[in-house]
Amino acid sequence: MDCIFCKIAKGEMTAKKGFENDRIVAINDINPKAKVHILVIPKKHIESVKSLAESDKDLIGELFLVAKQIAEMEKMEGYRLVVNVGKSGGQIIDHLHLHLLSGDGEAF
Ligand code: AMP
Ligand code: ZN
Repeated sequence: MDCIFCKIAKGEMTAKKGFENDRIVAINDINPKAKVHILVIPKKHIESVKSLAESDKDLIGELFLVAKQIAEMEKMEGYRLVVNVGKSGGQIIDHLHLHLLSGDGEAF
C-alpha cells in the first residue's frame, strides 16, 4: 500500500522518530504549524476515525497516553491534540494520526 505513514512506521521511509514502540510511532511534522508539532501515529493502517472499529479501543487509548507522555517528556505547559477527519475536516493523509501542538517545549 502506498501510504507515507505506513512506510515511516515500517522504516521504509526516513523520519526522525522521537518515540516508538510496537504499536505507535511519533515524528516531527514536516511542515510545523506550531513551535512544536508532533504527529503520533498508530502503526496499524486505519484510514480515519470514520473507520475505527471496536477492536481499536485500546490502541486509540494508548495513542492519547503516548501523546501525554511525550508532552511531559518535552516539558510542555499546555498543548492541543487534534485529529482531522475526512477531506473536508482537513485530513490530507489517510492514515489516522494525532497532532500534538504546543507553543513551548522542545521538538525531538
Ligand atoms: P492531516 O492534515 O491531519 O492529514 O495531517 C497530515 C500532516 O502530515 C500535515 O501536518 C503534514 O505537514 C504532515 N506530513 C506530511 N508528510 C510528512 C512527512 N513525510 N513527515 C512528517 N510529516 C509529514
Ligand atoms: Zn498507512
